[in-house]
Amino acid sequence: MTVLLFFIAHWYASLFCQSFFLHRYGAHGQFAMSKFWERFFFLLTVFTQGASYMNPRAYIVMHRLHHEHSDGLKDPHSPWHTKNPWAMMGRARIIYIHLLDGHLRAKEKFYKNFPSWKSVENFFETYPPRIVFVIGYITFYAFFANHWWLWFLLPIQIVIGPIQGAIVNWCGHKYGSKNFDNGDKSRNTWWLNLFLLGETNQNNHHKFPARANFGYRWYEFDPLAPFIWFLDKIRVIRTGKRSQKSFTPLFI
Ligand SMILES: [Zn+2]
Ligand SMILES: [Zn+2]
Repeated sequence: MTVLLFFIAHWYASLFCQSFFLHRYGAHGQFAMSKFWERFFFLLTVFTQGASYMNPRAYIVMHRLHHEHSDGLKDPHSPWHTKNPWAMMGRARIIYIHLLDGHLRAKEKFYKNFPSWKSVENFFETYPPRIVFVIGYITFYAFFANHWWLWFLLPIQIVIGPIQGAIVNWCGHKYGSKNFDNGDKSRNTWWLNLFLLGETNQNNHHKFPARANFGYRWYEFDPLAPFIWFLDKIRVIRTGKRSQKSFTPLFI
């Protein structure tokens, strides 16, 4: 039970950071925040992604390429160019690594306006901190796993960030309903919204990339939207027109 709770907490914490910080804030600038809060969420993202930490720069450039070429041949992770989710993840991983080491360079416009913290990025990109995280997970399981099958959750936690991204991209571009013709294959896999915090509403999101609420119809409820509204109310972030004074969204 304790391991299951640990897994669920890790799933939602990691997903929240990927969706709220890397995707909605980093890649799309849907809201603004002060340097203090940016650093706070930067560190929170690092620690919740843990062993599968993803560099914000490479993640954000890759995601902007996804929007520019959605389901085309230059889309880094369209489910329509690979046979299965594993092959799609493998292809995306190669592109991610080459965006990171500079062997692959996108257009200059994709490199503007994103959170950066070089010393933290350089440290957590290395193997030692990743290994420490893995040892931490294993130690937790060793103490609290009281059924053998719980150990099957461990590999998921080790690569939790890319797995969540893969589910979003595979399902959100393959299964579900369509509200808009975006010229791509994006769909709203709305029945997964509770498990993926609204991210699988890809059809709505590709139509309105600068909109912080990924829901459009009532049953496409985006669980992160009220939270973003709340963070705006308590002045942690700034959404809408107020955000654009300090941060210009790339996609409107
Ligand atoms: Zn998409
Ligand atoms: Zn996006």
